[in-house]
Amino acid sequence: MILMSSSMDTFIAGLPKAELHVHHVGSASPRIVAELAARHPDPKVPTDPEALAEFFTFRDFPHFIELYLATVELVRTAEDVRLLTFEVARDMARQNIRYAELTVTPYSSVRRGIPDTEFLAAIEDARKAAESELGVVLRWCFDIPGEAGLESAEETCRIAVDLGCEGLVSFGLGGPEAGISRAQFKPYFDRARAAGLHSVPHAGEGDGPASVWAALNELKAERIGHGVRSVEDEALLAHLAERQIPLEVCPTSNVATRVVADLDRHPIRQLLDAGVLVTVNSDDPPMFGTDLNREYAVAARLLDLDEAGLAGLAKNAVDASFLDAPGKARLRGEIDDYLAEWTGSGSGF
Ligand SMILES: [Zn+2]
Repeated sequence: MILMSSSMDTFIAGLPKAELHVHHVGSASPRIVAELAARHPDPKVPTDPEALAEFFTFRDFPHFIELYLATVELVRTAEDVRLLTFEVARDMARQNIRYAELTVTPYSSVRRGIPDTEFLAAIEDARKAAESELGVVLRWCFDIPGEAGLESAEETCRIAVDLGCEGLVSFGLGGPEAGISRAQFKPYFDRARAAGLHSVPHAGEGDGPASVWAALNELKAERIGHGVRSVEDEALLAHLAERQIPLEVCPTSNVATRVVADLDRHPIRQLLDAGVLVTVNSDDPPMFGTDLNREYAVAARLLDLDEAGLAGLAKNAVDASFLDAPGKARLRGEIDDYLAEWTGSGSGF
């Protein structure tokens, strides 16, 4: 049965979910930005709620960059980092996101003058509070902002490997892909992997299949951020399917950044049909006018999913996560129980 949209939205809203591709600063909602702007008034950031909502309305990619950079500028102290992190978790709890691997870019904050150890203490403090007060389990992916070059790679590696923190599970690479080869970051990924961190670079978003191959072969990627342009290469699709290397697919983001022309032309079905392990994620949700629930609704429409199909998608994210085995079993159990309760009660709760 294909759910009617209101029933489907209710089902998705209550479905326990895991999110694997979502950025720290990119998750700042208008509510959070208003709190930060009250601390640090900035002429670029409107404080009137209506003007702020307008500032957050997605227009085009350059406007998104403007909004993103204005938000980065508002995160000036370790206390700002703590507030942002905890409040992002609060927005996750409202969507019943039970586990998230949040991509954090320590380089941006440390370069702006927040001492590295204070930055780490702030995110860890927020992580512990989010788990005990909100029931949201957070883990970190520290990513290199690729456009900032090898200096940022060295610094990110130092913070991740030499300092590190309890919640850190993976090492990433973000920023624009075109003209920024994945391979140049190999030494930093080697160091991070030797320290026990998982490799999760962005690839196959702003650039074609060659970047995914480089992420796999040079950076030893265990999961790929985006990877949607893998559909341009049959051999790559077969490789991803055979090795069950998950893709972190973010449909609305792909339209916003013009990787695909519109949602109806998104290749998510092609990826699944090829046997690739697909997870659905939100990337920079408030800035792209979305959230994880909406991305699940998009996936349900594009893939003709019913309740069991949506629960299956949620379980894909659990399977592809870096949670430990008991954590995975617990979250899979929560999803199964929710589905059973929903279907057992007929048309919903
Ligand atoms: Zn991303």
